[in-house]
Amino acid sequence: MKISKRFANVGDSSTLKITALAKSMKNKGTDVAILAAGEPDFDTPNEIKESAIKAIKDGFTGYTPVRGVPELLELICEKFKNDNNIEYKNENIIVSTGAKQSIYNVLQALCDEESEVIILAPFWVSYLEMIKMTGATPVIVDTSLDNFKLNAKRIEEKITSRTRMIIINSPNNPTGVVYTEKELREFSDVVVKHGIYCISDEIYEKIIYSPHKHYSIASFNPQIKDLTFTVNGLSKTYAMTGWRIGFLGGEKRLVEKTLMVQTHSTSCTSSISQKAAIAALKTSPEVAGRMISEFGKRREFVIDYMKNVENVNFIEPMGAFYLFMDFRKIIDENKSRFENSESVCTKLLEEYNVAVIPGGAFGAEGWLRISYAASLDEIKKGLSRIHDFVKRYT
Ligand code: PMP
Ligand code: GLU
Repeated sequence: MKISKRFANVGDSSTLKITALAKSMKNKGTDVAILAAGEPDFDTPNEIKESAIKAIKDGFTGYTPVRGVPELLELICEKFKNDNNIEYKNENIIVSTGAKQSIYNVLQALCDEESEVIILAPFWVSYLEMIKMTGATPVIVDTSLDNFKLNAKRIEEKITSRTRMIIINSPNNPTGVVYTEKELREFSDVVVKHGIYCISDEIYEKIIYSPHKHYSIASFNPQIKDLTFTVNGLSKTYAMTGWRIGFLGGEKRLVEKTLMVQTHSTSCTSSISQKAAIAALKTSPEVAGRMISEFGKRREFVIDYMKNVENVNFIEPMGAFYLFMDFRKIIDENKSRFENSESVCTKLLEEYNVAVIPGGAFGAEGWLRISYAASLDEIKKGLSRIHDFVKRYT
């Protein structure tokens, strides 16, 4: 077998792989509690679905402009203005097949084999592999040294003449940490000082718990705005993971180049999903708000439950729908049985029938991530099984 050097050491996505495995176990009759992928368990709101059905019936089924239909681009500009205080025009926007593709496009367009791209561990699994797919070198900053927060100084220490980009993600997957305005301003000063590009992945923007607030670095000043790609999407906020709608805003000339990646690979995202996206962005805030307040209740439940589980510490989530748990003590005390977080997850899935994601996949060995974007019943079942596991190995 001959494969490209760039792909030789690209790994799988644990989030998608474990979820697929757990779903197939469930389909075959095993009662698995699935707390794996960050995928809202809610159905897409009805008015959004209706608009897609109408698009099909109206024959809105052809190619659209690659960057997206003008009405959707205008709504995205409005969203950026109203929610994020960023002024973009249609020419600054690209709609893609999920925020995943938005990030991929930017990395492909801007990185060379000589480039370094800084990511902050723990990081979302796909950042690392997408960087490798460009041939660039990922450079990792360990945020556990700073309580999982954004430390501009520590990042600056890793900047070299080869640094091309930095990716940040707040609210964060997998930790649930939200960066403060002060942290983000200090960070953006460093980015501007060194003239490097930044992807600000804001996909969990709306899933945030009081008193925490979301800030977009591109709103701070024109310099950081020109260096930043602000990435967002509809998967999480509107329970639309399968519709594949993500988008970005950025400086016009950089966005033109980024658009070429999509032009020559996938063209526009689905015309029908774009009509659904228009409907989603027109819904009243209560539509997403109902789901977000449900995540808030589940978050409380998960925190209260895990506080009573001995030997497992966790990061109290400020946003997103993940709980990141420290299993290092348990792994350490059971070295002969468990080599790492992945072997703990395998045991949990195969014997305790609960699907969770190993921290190693996020660059945080010894930790485990659960997603509480599942029904409360599923969460209760899953947590009690995790508790049984902890009792057994303590
Ligand atoms: N960024 C982060 C941090 C994520 O967790 C995900 C996973 N859904 C994405 C981007 C991509 O989401 P999508 O492609 O569904 O828009
Ligand atoms: N982003 C979600 C997660 O972290 C969905 C799966 C994926 O695309 O990685 O679980």
